[in-house]
Amino acid sequence: MTNAPVLSVRNLTTSFRTGDGWKTVVRNISFDVNAGETVAIVGESGSGKSVTSLSIMRLLAQGSSRIEGEVLLNGQNILALSEKEMRGVRGNDVAMIFQEPMTSLNPIFTIGRQISEVLIRHKGMTQTEARAETVRLLEKVRIPNASSRFDEYPHQFSGGMRQRVMIAMALASKPKLLIADEPTTALDVTIQGQILDLIKILQEEEGMSVLFITHDMGVVAEIADRTIVMFRGDQVEAGATEDIFLRGQHPYTRALLSAVP
Ligand code: ADP
Ligand code: MG
Repeated sequence: MTNAPVLSVRNLTTSFRTGDGWKTVVRNISFDVNAGETVAIVGESGSGKSVTSLSIMRLLAQGSSRIEGEVLLNGQNILALSEKEMRGVRGNDVAMIFQEPMTSLNPIFTIGRQISEVLIRHKGMTQTEARAETVRLLEKVRIPNASSRFDEYPHQFSGGMRQRVMIAMALASKPKLLIADEPTTALDVTIQGQILDLIKILQEEEGMSVLFITHDMGVVAEIADRTIVMFRGDQVEAGATEDIFLRGQHPYTRALLSAVP
């Protein structure tokens, strides 16, 4: 057994190519996510939260972006891996869910088929095994009448149910780390609460670590053990969530906190 963090980000700096050089939008971000822990990144729109998560997943276009620093996943620096090796990491060690699940689901295939394919491709299951496991995963994310919904298409699900489908798909690869980039932002408030509760339950059941990205301090209070505050590409605060609420110093952190009801 090792106590190494599941994810260790060191001086992550991401720049994009512009007409006359490079523009840095994420600067010297450093944090750890330990086993079983939920860490939140909070910051206003445009502060670099999504670029940080996409850099960790290496999902930015290679020619037009530059990532510096280290991203250690279970101790391995994934910035040094080939694209082929990285595909294996994405399918096995780390999964990501986004704000708008419709963009990640293929509208022309049933949701059962889309989840089954992950299981067949990454877990080597047969068609029959994958079907049974898919129904189990849909039940795990509390989709009512899961087995009868296997053959339905993404548009037949509500926004909240689609996010549950995405979470089921993310769980299919049994990731050690789930990165959730504003997964509740597009949902109604009551549905937001249900999805947050689901992520908390699953984290305990699966022993997963979660990196949760949000602009909402209320969500941070609800879900995160530790919190990183980003402001205009910089990490301006990091610590136990409780300490940040009680003793956050940076003017932007104070502003975020004063907006919490
Ligand atoms: P957040 O998720 O916190 O709202 P982002 O990480 O999406 O913010 O964006 C941070 C900054 O990087 C913004 O100024 C955005 O315009 C810029 N940016 C994001 N993606 C790209 C890209 N592919 N090319 C150039 N600039 C980008
Ligand atoms: Mg974003």
